[in-house]
Amino acid sequence: MTEKTLEPGSILGVLGGGQLGAMFADAARRMGYHVAVWDPDADAPAHRMACHSFTAPFSDMAARTQFSHAVHAVTFEWENVPAELCEWLEQRHRVRPAGAVLRIIQDRIAQKQFLQSGRLPVQSFVAIESPDQLAEAVQQVGVPAVCKTATSGYDGKGQWILRQNSDVAQVEQALRMVAKSGFRWILETFVNFERELSVLVVRGEGGECQIYPVVENRHEQGILRMTLAPSTVSSDVATRAAELAGQAVRTLNGVGVFCVELFQVAGDDLLINEIAPRPHNSGHYTLEACSVSQFEQQVRVVCGMPLGEARLLSPAAMVNLIGEEARSVTSRRGFTDLLSIPGAVLHLYGKRVVRPGRKMGHVTFLADRSEVAAERAHQFMAQLV
Ligand code: AMP
Repeated sequence: MTEKTLEPGSILGVLGGGQLGAMFADAARRMGYHVAVWDPDADAPAHRMACHSFTAPFSDMAARTQFSHAVHAVTFEWENVPAELCEWLEQRHRVRPAGAVLRIIQDRIAQKQFLQSGRLPVQSFVAIESPDQLAEAVQQVGVPAVCKTATSGYDGKGQWILRQNSDVAQVEQALRMVAKSGFRWILETFVNFERELSVLVVRGEGGECQIYPVVENRHEQGILRMTLAPSTVSSDVATRAAELAGQAVRTLNGVGVFCVELFQVAGDDLLINEIAPRPHNSGHYTLEACSVSQFEQQVRVVCGMPLGEARLLSPAAMVNLIGEEARSVTSRRGFTDLLSIPGAVLHLYGKRVVRPGRKMGHVTFLADRSEVAAERAHQFMAQLV
């Protein structure tokens, strides 16, 4: 261990307490660390794993000071925590990824502009400062297009698709309904992609990188439905996807775990859709299928340890349990059926309130061959209510 490595027994602070924070806490505890969780939702799953729980709003100055005194280093589990809070905590602690990186990523416009200025391929886009600018933006980008809130969107929330020019009036009206002072949007070309891919990149303090295999994702209504690891793309596409992902994180000078989401379009070209500055749902398979999981990598980076090897040990397919689907698994018959599928590993996040679209858990299917893992995942999905 280097001088700057945090020793086991130290307390790692995590901003956000959802399932990603809980899986981070699990990895941290296994490695001998304690975790302080700050999430204003007292019911957030990671609080159950915490040695200190903070539930004040992130703007609470007294809570900031207490949190800062309680922890030895800080990370976050989603990109919508205040960048300004990370920057404040950075005055006392190692915060990974850094607040400046979070600031770029959490604004879709800043992120796309940054990628474009680094000559990384992205879909065409225009920034929109007020609903009045939508019509002109549609003229520039063309249809179909997708309009997204610049900040605070996730899982397809805050997105409107414009299939034809006549949709402008309706979407403009929708933007007016949600508009608040300072609200901005981004209008992007709606990409007719062949596949959605993602690549997890872990980058350490000295610029060293570990890149996980390229995986393939299927979304439904903007929410991740299934991930197949590794992807079945050609080795040429896989190599280019990994190179682009690594280049994007280097350009950001990011230190931490990043997930780069890409669209594979006709002619095998690749576009970067977005970057998450944290472990990602499409990387959950790493828990069982890789030598070191994305969550252990997050612990390693925030503690200043050497990165782990990102080696795939087994093909895997991951299926999310969304909303009521979790009930079809937890019913007595569903539970027995699921657990008797070879290679199935169940994760339930322990969320008490079920809401449509809410991620309640996931199942990873391991198999010797990726076709078999995918087949088991499809079989299972067919049984979900
Ligand atoms: P995002 O919040 O940008 O990750 O969007 C969630 C999902 O919506 C993506 O994974 C895609 O399936 C879809 N999506 C987002 N942006 C676009 C786009 N410009 N073209 C086509 N599909 C998109």
